[in-house]
Amino acid sequence: MYEAVIGLEVHVQLSTASKIFSGSSTAFGAEPNTQASLVDLGMPGVLPVPNARAFEMAVKFGLAIDAEIGKESVFDRKNYFYPDLPKGYQISQFEKPIVGPGRVTITLDDGTTKTINVTRAHLEEDAGKSVHDAFDGMTGVDLNRAGTPLLEIVSEPELRSAKEAVAYLKVIHSIIRYLDISDGNMAQGSMRCDCNVSIRPKGSEVLGTRTEIKNVNSFRFVEKAINTEIHRQTEILEDGGRVIQETRLYDPDKDETRSMRSKEEANDYRYFPDPDLLPVMIDDSFIEACRNTLPELPEARQARYIKDYGITDYDAGVLVADRDVADYFSEVADTSGEGKLAANWVMGSVLAELNQTGSVIADFPVSARQLADLISRIKDNTLNSKTAKTVFEALLVGEGEVNAIIEAKGLVQMTDTGAIEAIVDEVIQENPDQVANYRSAPSDKQGKMLGFFVGQVMKKSQGKANPQAVNQILNSKLGS
Ligand code: ADP
Ligand code: MG
Repeated sequence: MYEAVIGLEVHVQLSTASKIFSGSSTAFGAEPNTQASLVDLGMPGVLPVPNARAFEMAVKFGLAIDAEIGKESVFDRKNYFYPDLPKGYQISQFEKPIVGPGRVTITLDDGTTKTINVTRAHLEEDAGKSVHDAFDGMTGVDLNRAGTPLLEIVSEPELRSAKEAVAYLKVIHSIIRYLDISDGNMAQGSMRCDCNVSIRPKGSEVLGTRTEIKNVNSFRFVEKAINTEIHRQTEILEDGGRVIQETRLYDPDKDETRSMRSKEEANDYRYFPDPDLLPVMIDDSFIEACRNTLPELPEARQARYIKDYGITDYDAGVLVADRDVADYFSEVADTSGEGKLAANWVMGSVLAELNQTGSVIADFPVSARQLADLISRIKDNTLNSKTAKTVFEALLVGEGEVNAIIEAKGLVQMTDTGAIEAIVDEVIQENPDQVANYRSAPSDKQGKMLGFFVGQVMKKSQGKANPQAVNQILNSKLGS
């Protein structure tokens, strides 16, 4: 039996307006090479100037994961050659990163929690982009991204499954979004993940040889890439082979990882302190100023939601993961005064719809106030669960406000027991065989058989009958 060992290196693009060492804009999607200054182009004689905002963001992240802040933070040159790296080195941090050891808490499938230690988080500049599909037979270089600030967050090899790795990544994503230090958009590359994977016999304390899967760009692919890699390494060891330390790429189309370069071909980066940049000294007042701007973080908000809205630990965890969803939920819950119903609707209907359409809450067609209105009409018995669904669907396609929809569609719930009784009588009359079957069936079978009659009554009432009343009346009439 083998055990997987996983450590993640997560690159987060910080949402500063300008680059980490120059005044060029960092906005996404501009014409190639229109946002590259002399500094980004690596021209001789120019000097980089650190962006204070990048330090603020890094320190806020450090505080959020309960980490030590590097009081003396040093930039190093990481030397390698690549066409999209005009200076021939990347400015990064090696021995003295801005964020020292910290920790985050992940929740596992069984509801238990686990602490994952974060080794470090350092500031560095991003490289440019090679564009392979714009010119026939040639590769273009776009340096707009060169010099964009990145925070690289390195975990200890303490994750034990692909699921744990995704849970960890989601916590990091959640924290950076709450702190508003990155848009966290994985599809656009604002958050990228290198997955280091090894396996070892269960119970062993020694780490196995790892491979590193570069630049995986979605939660789903991280899970698949790691599982595929664990499977590949397990087969090698079971066949008596050995895993080679190397860098691999994940191909989502084939669901396989492929070798990119082996350790033997690995770069020797010859790190040394960048003589163009002085060490950055961080004093306590800077750290305290950053601390004062920290928002309520996901963990604290989860605890508050459990207490304020009487919802479960699990539900609160799902609802706070995304800050915008959390805000939406709390507005629905506060406006309707119904925490549990609000949680059910946001998790069951709103998040389901967002998942299905791949969109975000900011673009969601149903406002928090509209959903609160809907919930209020369930609470006052105007709507049952079926008609409420109909109203929700009408809200989704923009058919107007809740009360207008109820009116236009004639959806007011039938609670008049006399009217429901009349329908029940009709149904009983029209289905003599089913009634006879029901009455001769053993009582433990009857519960299931009742569903047929409930369905008929609901159908005749166009879904408007109050289900509890229907059940009650049916039970008493069929029992005789
Ligand atoms: P490098 O900078 O060469 O990639 P590091 O020592 O900084 O190497 O490790 C990078 C990442 O790899 C860290 O997240 C660490 O937890 C993880 N890691 C190190 N050894 C292993 C291993 N044997 N199995 C899985 N992950 C590992
Ligand atoms: Mg690495």
